[in-house]
Amino acid sequence: MEVANESHSTQHAQDSKTYEGGCFCGAVKLTVSGEPAGMGYCHCESCRSWSAGPVNAFTLWKPDAVKVTQGAANIGTYNKTVNSYRKWCKTCGGHLFTEHPGMGLTDVYAATIPDFPYQAGVHVNYQETRLRMKDGLPKMKDFPKEIGGSGITIPE
Ligand SMILES: [Zn+2]
Ligand SMILES: [Zn+2]
Repeated sequence: MEVANESHSTQHAQDSKTYEGGCFCGAVKLTVSGEPAGMGYCHCESCRSWSAGPVNAFTLWKPDAVKVTQGAANIGTYNKTVNSYRKWCKTCGGHLFTEHPGMGLTDVYAATIPDFPYQAGVHVNYQETRLRMKDGLPKMKDFPKEIGGSGITIPE
């Protein structure tokens, strides 16, 4: 309130920092606020196919922590399944985030929010990996139990 354009709130005692991000061309901008529910790398075939990369660095947020601040009308959506609504910029094709209604979480790709202090905590869907990453973090066969997976970890 006191400081216009300050990127984090000064009104609340709790830490609710806000980080800005956006698409490749800048037509779409968004913010994430507070703390993510989880961070890590996904090695699944769907992430690989859609991202055209070997792994996907994800940050998971409650939907109301993610706000599109510019270019909302420029966002395209594709859902192959009811579990994942994938969002991208219609101008540049740059990926933005994926909504997972079943989990009640939104995955904002770490690369979309470059100033956010991304720190992976886990690898998921490692049974599908094409790029082994020996960083000492847990390697889940699929997903943790808390979000409906087997909870099984496998070797790096
Ligand atoms: Zn764009
Ligand atoms: Zn994935």
